[in-house]
Amino acid sequence: MEKEEKKNNQPPNEETTSKMPQNFIKEIIDEHLRTNKYGGIVHTRFPPEPNGYLHIGHAKSICLNFGLAEEYNGLCNLRFDDTNPTKEEEEYVSSIKEDIKWLGFDWEDREYYASDYFDTLYEYAVKLISKGVAYVDSLTSDEIRKYRGTPTQAGKESPYRNRPVEENLELFEKMKNGEFKDGECVLRAKIDMASPNMNMRDPVMYRIRHEFHHRTGDKWCIYPMYDWAHGQSDSIEGITHSICTLEFENHRPLYDWFIEQLEIHHPRQIEFARLNLSFTIMSKRKLLELVEGKYVTGWNDPRMPTLSAMRRRGYPPEAIRHFAERVGVAKRNQVIDVALLEHSVRENLNKNAQRVMGVLRPLKVIITNYPDNTVEELEAVNNPEDPSMGKRKVPFSKELYIEQNDFKEDPPKKFFRLAPGKEVRLRYAYIIKCEEVIKDPVSGKVIELHCSYDIDTKSGLGKSDKKVKGTIHWVSVQHAFNAEVRLYDRLFTVEDPVGDKEKDFKEFLNPDSLETLKECKLEPGLKSAKRGERFQFERLGYFCADLIDSEDGKPVFNRIVPLRDTWAKIAKAQKKN
Ligand code: ATP
Ligand code: MG
Repeated sequence: MEKEEKKNNQPPNEETTSKMPQNFIKEIIDEHLRTNKYGGIVHTRFPPEPNGYLHIGHAKSICLNFGLAEEYNGLCNLRFDDTNPTKEEEEYVSSIKEDIKWLGFDWEDREYYASDYFDTLYEYAVKLISKGVAYVDSLTSDEIRKYRGTPTQAGKESPYRNRPVEENLELFEKMKNGEFKDGECVLRAKIDMASPNMNMRDPVMYRIRHEFHHRTGDKWCIYPMYDWAHGQSDSIEGITHSICTLEFENHRPLYDWFIEQLEIHHPRQIEFARLNLSFTIMSKRKLLELVEGKYVTGWNDPRMPTLSAMRRRGYPPEAIRHFAERVGVAKRNQVIDVALLEHSVRENLNKNAQRVMGVLRPLKVIITNYPDNTVEELEAVNNPEDPSMGKRKVPFSKELYIEQNDFKEDPPKKFFRLAPGKEVRLRYAYIIKCEEVIKDPVSGKVIELHCSYDIDTKSGLGKSDKKVKGTIHWVSVQHAFNAEVRLYDRLFTVEDPVGDKEKDFKEFLNPDSLETLKECKLEPGLKSAKRGERFQFERLGYFCADLIDSEDGKPVFNRIVPLRDTWAKIAKAQKKN
């Protein structure tokens, strides 16, 4: 009852409403629906090239394409743009599928490959040759480049441009049949060598590459260029709204030209700005460089901006979707602060992650006046934000671990944690007072604290109304689960790692992006954490049992994010100085 009331007083939960905010793409779609341009249908697609793992930028495109389809009761296809014959594609294909599913989207049985259309594309090319608007060119690729001109200077026509249709048909067939070597000739569209749009200067449609393709094997030795394959693939699938990033805006006249020449279904291409994130790189080529150079442990290293890395690190997929919605769609390129993504992650975990206690850098505390051989099971709340998540028992005993930095021998003024002669509350337990500091006789390092406790201060139950300013977390020594915890931080130290073209982006790798702690003391329940399970370690941050390195009964934890944006503090301090 109480819960119901609370719900009613709250603003609608953004996460459960599926409608995305109005944007210019939706305006175009709405207009098409009004004018019945595509018979009331909305059919989008997500077209990855299987040459790397998906990253957070792709997530933006996935959320947009699948999201629009969902919202307009339409469909969204998954299409692999595999026009380039390369080797390792199978690994990429399966990772891409896994990532899209993980984000929560479903292409049902509509899993397509541009290579499925190689036959149709060939027929289309023959049609264009027959119409006299495509020709086989025997210039070398260098010559073609030279003949192309510059943005301010018209190009020059190839001497082969006016080959008769019959000759072109014959040569094109020979190209297909493998009678030429790589690079000997290409098929080009015959458009306009003087067009101010360089894409219209007789673009290459097919090139010869005697290479094995992951799906078509050795069937083809000519492969369509992306610009030739992409728009036609959309058309073949009956895509209505072909959403792509801004760099394709001036390819649109070419795509329109092909479609009009072929007289086939004409999707509407709509361009939006790529998602760029501060402190992050999104180029697949550069990400591959990090993987191959072993700067990270793989595409799914939790520091990478890939979806498989974010999954492993513990980012909830809903948080990524929410983030994608929050940043919206723009027509101008912009850089989004990575802190916004981290904020979405925190916001989700604040509500959904169970809170527990874990000590990352342990310091032993002995409560000298607490009885020996006694264990109390203290009641702890799993998530104060959500009472339905219940309570649990945490064992308390005479010897505890606390965090090293919760004690200071020489505390500054506003230090409300433990110090000689000072008191602090142990979460869910008692107020203790530091009576004695034990040091290593050789190093002088503090190794143990002897404290006293006040039995009347038991949390929620004690007779005393004594109050202290600080509350710290702890774990009982004899019950502690010893675990490895990996503290991940941003992979780069600068906002724009690729901004300085003079420098290698790898110079900006953060040397402290990973710290591995092997002697962390966690409350005993965490021993049975399942792979992928997420927690808030109180006062420290959010953590996830690693999907790969955890074993049953021996989870390894990744820090997903600290509780607060520690970088904001650093940036603020830097501005002040
Ligand atoms: P590359 O980095 O190799 O040029 P790409 O990033 O364009 O490739 P694709 O596999 O071609 O990768 O991308 C699939 C889809 O994801 C495309 O529709 C592309 O526009 C979109 N996409 C890629 N990166 C971003 C990004 N940063 N923001 C939004 N959409 C993106
Ligand atoms: Mg691309």
